[in-house]
Amino acid sequence: MAEGLRFACQPGCTECCRQRGFVYLTEADLVRAAEFLGMTAAAFEKKYVYRTRNQRRLRVPREAHCHFLLDGGCSIHPAKPTQCRIFPFWPELVESKREWKKTARYCPGMGQGPLIQIDSARAQAREMREGYPELY
Ligand code: SF4
Ligand code: SF4
Repeated sequence: MAEGLRFACQPGCTECCRQRGFVYLTEADLVRAAEFLGMTAAAFEKKYVYRTRNQRRLRVPREAHCHFLLDGGCSIHPAKPTQCRIFPFWPELVESKREWKKTARYCPGMGQGPLIQIDSARAQAREMREGYPELY
């Protein structure tokens, strides 16, 4: 990858929330989102989370891509899961020009805005790896 990547999330856009794929949660994400909604972690988990031995992810509703995506955007924005907060600085995108370009086909913010230094992009990618050790 070059010495930096450009990115600026575009107002009003919700494309990344509409893509196929799972939204994984760290244990801390689960607690934070529950608190944000005024629920207990147990109640939040029962309603929204699918848990396996090593992973937690949001259940996928039949007709929509994410329970929390409303017309105005993410309804839990201040408490959204780590992978949503860090996007597009996921390890697989930061480390591959090809994957970055491919993802930029649906994310209009990639390639826009300020140049994010590669060290900063990699630090965010590292946070992803640390948050989801079961995925990386
Ligand atoms: S697709 Fe890109 S520009 Fe659109 S909301 Fe997601 S991060 Fe922002
Ligand atoms: S939790 Fe929020 S940011 Fe993440 S996919 Fe759902 S609506 Fe989008």
